[in-house]
Amino acid sequence: MTRHDSTEDTPLAYASTLNTFQENFLAEQEPKTDQEIFERLCYFPNQVLLETSSYCNLNCTMCARQFQPRSWGKMEESLALRVIDEVLTGAPWVRIWFCYFGEPLVSKKLGLYKRIRYAKDRGLKRAAINTNGTLLDERAVRDLLDAGLDEIYIGIDAITKETYESIRLGGKFATVMDNIHRLIQLAGDRIQITVQFAELKENQHELEAFKEYWSHQPVQVYIRPKVTWLNSLEDEVNAPPSLRHACAWLFDSININENGNVPFCICDWRGQQVHGNVREESIFAIWQKKIVPYLVAHAAGDWPKLPDFCRSCPDWQTKKPRNLEVIRLFAGRDPLSGEADVQLQ
Ligand code: SF4
Ligand code: SF4
Repeated sequence: MTRHDSTEDTPLAYASTLNTFQENFLAEQEPKTDQEIFERLCYFPNQVLLETSSYCNLNCTMCARQFQPRSWGKMEESLALRVIDEVLTGAPWVRIWFCYFGEPLVSKKLGLYKRIRYAKDRGLKRAAINTNGTLLDERAVRDLLDAGLDEIYIGIDAITKETYESIRLGGKFATVMDNIHRLIQLAGDRIQITVQFAELKENQHELEAFKEYWSHQPVQVYIRPKVTWLNSLEDEVNAPPSLRHACAWLFDSININENGNVPFCICDWRGQQVHGNVREESIFAIWQKKIVPYLVAHAAGDWPKLPDFCRSCPDWQTKKPRNLEVIRLFAGRDPLSGEADVQLQ
C-alpha cells in the first residue's frame, strides 16, 4: 500500500488530497487556538452527513451496501428540513453533506436540490455531495448550480474502462468521464470538484496514471486507502496494534441515516450501535452526550471502553487525525464531566 503523507514518520497510508487549489474549508472554519477547537468539538463537529436517500444505482465491489443488512429509503422532507434548521441555528459553521450511504442524484426528484437550496438560503456556507457521477447529466449540473452546491466529490477509482467497470458494477466509464468534463465546463469555479480514488488491489496499478491525468484538470484528487466498513470487507492494511491512535473518522462528523438514526461513526454503515434518533433527541444532545465520551476514550487510548466492533475495526488507520494537540486535550477530559452523562460500555 502506498504511503501518501510524507510529513509524518509513520508507516500508515492515510487518505490524502492532491491539487488543493481552493482553501481548506474545514481549517478555515475552525477557531484559532487548539483550546477553542477542542471546546467547539465538545459542542459539535464540523460536518454533518444527511442521508437524503440511501438508494443507489450501482453495486460497487468495495461498498458495504452489497451485504444489505439494513433497510434502504429516503429521508422525509419534514425531517430533513428540521435537521437543517436545527444544525444551522446551533452550528452555522458546519459543512453539510446531502448524502451518506447511497447515491444522492438518485433522489434528485425526491428533494435533493430543494434541500440544498433551503439550507443555502438559511446561511449554509458549504453544501457538498459525494456521487458516483453516472447520473450527472447536463440537467443535473444546472440544477445543482441553481441549488447553490459548493462541493462535489466523484468516486471513480480507475483510469480505464476495464478497471472502472470491474469495480463500479453497473457504471459506464465513458459516461462518467463525459459527465465530469461537462461539469468542469459548466460549473467553472462555482463548484469545487474533487475526483476520488479508493485504493484497492484491483486498481493499484492505475493510481499514478489517475493522478497524472487529473493533474491537468481544475480538480482536486482525493486518494484514500480501502475502508473495510468495520470489517465488512477484507482488511488489506494491517498496522500493528502498537500504532493505534484515535480514529479521525469519529472526530470528523455526525451522520444521520434516512430514518433519523445516528450510527456509531461514519463507517458504521449498518448501525451496529445507534447513538440515538434525531426525531427523538436534539442532534446536539446526541453529539455531546453519546459521542463525545467515545472521543475521549479514543483520545486517551482507552480501548477497553469501546464497543467490540470498534476495538477490532482497522479503519482508524486510513485517516490521519487533523490536530494532535486537540486529541491530547480530549485525553485529559473526564468523559463523564460536563455534558457527557452516559456510561461507556
Ligand atoms: S456508488 Fe457509492 S453507494 Fe453506490 S454502490 Fe458504489 S460505493 Fe456504494
Ligand atoms: S475504529 Fe471505531 S470509530 Fe473508527 S471507523 Fe472503526 S468503528 Fe468507527
